[in-house]
Amino acid sequence: MKIIADLHTHTIASGHAYSTLKENIEEGIVKGLLAIGTSDHAPKMPGAPQLIFFENFKVIPNKIQNIHILKGVEANILDYKGSIDITPEVMGKMDYIIASLHTPCIAGGTMDENTQALIGAMNNPYVKVIGHPDDDRYPLDYDKLTRAASKMKVALELNNSSLLPLSTRLNGRINAEKMLKKCIENETMVIVGSDSHYCSDVGNFKEAIALIEKIQFPERLIVNTSMEKLAYVLNSPKFI
Ligand SMILES: [Zn+2]
Ligand SMILES: [Zn+2]
Repeated sequence: MKIIADLHTHTIASGHAYSTLKENIEEGIVKGLLAIGTSDHAPKMPGAPQLIFFENFKVIPNKIQNIHILKGVEANILDYKGSIDITPEVMGKMDYIIASLHTPCIAGGTMDENTQALIGAMNNPYVKVIGHPDDDRYPLDYDKLTRAASKMKVALELNNSSLLPLSTRLNGRINAEKMLKKCIENETMVIVGSDSHYCSDVGNFKEAIALIEKIQFPERLIVNTSMEKLAYVLNSPKFI
């Protein structure tokens, strides 16, 4: 099994990441990826760019050498209804939106509130991925979450960074495993993401792949194992 695309990568524009888009793309080429998605943090994250940054994506080539370049955002969920900090006009201009819970933007609620926040975000047709739903600072009902994601055709992220010892997320590994098992039960698609904040981490899926192998998670439920399946998380799968 090979992961052929990394759709969760940050550049210096995020305010707490340290590489340029060009450096990330070059790393993606070195790692042999077929597609890289750039997904900087949305405006409510301290230090993140304004909406105009995401509105100007047209200047970025769609392909460099053999790698497809997808343009997205990691939006912040702002309330337990699942509102995000991207306006409707800008939503439609991007290839995909990841929606995530982040501590500077929303406090942890009850399990019901957190789960409802993610389901609310999934109701937005432009939200195609839920980022790192694996953090006990935001406890989740994984049965409810995976059922909803499956129904709404949203992919849940298996985030490689959450599995690293330096992660600030709580019990990432335990929760990722719980989530994957429920994904098998409920036929829910997942996407593996590096969540890289420095270029050498682009395409680093080492921990995620080890977990996938450990629990024998089926390849058919992993969106980014083929370009065809990647269409599941794109607003307009124009290049497929
Ligand atoms: Zn970040
Ligand atoms: Zn995030």
